[in-house]
Amino acid sequence: MSSTPQAITFEQLVKECGDLYSTLQATAEKVKEDFAAMQVAVEKIIAEQEEKENQGDSGIPQGDVPEEKKEKAVPLWPMAPMVQIAVAIVEIERTHHITIVMDTTPYEFGNRAAPNQLFQVKNRTVMRKNPLEEEDPFPSASSGKPKKSAKIASGSTQVWTRQTATRRLRCKCNPAYHGDTRCQHHDKLMCMAHGIGAALAEIIWQGQPVEGVVLPDDLFA
Ligand SMILES: [Zn+2]
Ligand SMILES: [Zn+2]
Repeated sequence: MSSTPQAITFEQLVKECGDLYSTLQATAEKVKEDFAAMQVAVEKIIAEQEEKENQGDSGIPQGDVPEEKKEKAVPLWPMAPMVQIAVAIVEIERTHHITIVMDTTPYEFGNRAAPNQLFQVKNRTVMRKNPLEEEDPFPSASSGKPKKSAKIASGSTQVWTRQTATRRLRCKCNPAYHGDTRCQHHDKLMCMAHGIGAALAEIIWQGQPVEGVVLPDDLFA
């Protein structure tokens, strides 16, 4: 079968071009109309928005809001987790004995307070700790061997205080929880306690249990 295209007359070509032109023209008109309609809708939304803002402004004068308050970071959750994490570290000969106390009702006392949850860290893994089974952080001392020097530090992390980190720190602290005002960053061991607390705080924000969490290697480096 021959594939030679059918001869097309000049008149046919003109007609086809004409049809095509009309279609293009109509499409262009339609786009213009749609655009105009959209513009009207957008202007309406902007006008409504401005009206709302003006109404809001009439109640609270802008000048009453202190500058520092305006710049405070906005929490990511409407209700931040009210959990306080205290981390205590005893360092003996480069070995860290880490105890974590988690308080889920930091502002409650007596019957209203939930019992604190006790954890320890073994091989970077967070495990529950039985408060009755107190491990001896000074085994060599009690076994009569020469006493070794120990360093002790503790630091607490308030999970709900997370802010957008605006700077980097050289220590183990997480600037989202322990910025300038919360830590002097002078005590390496305390910054480590802060870093562990912050790592667990992030887990809590994700809604995950802290038990079984393997802490990142660089917190212990
Ligand atoms: Zn620090
Ligand atoms: Zn710190």
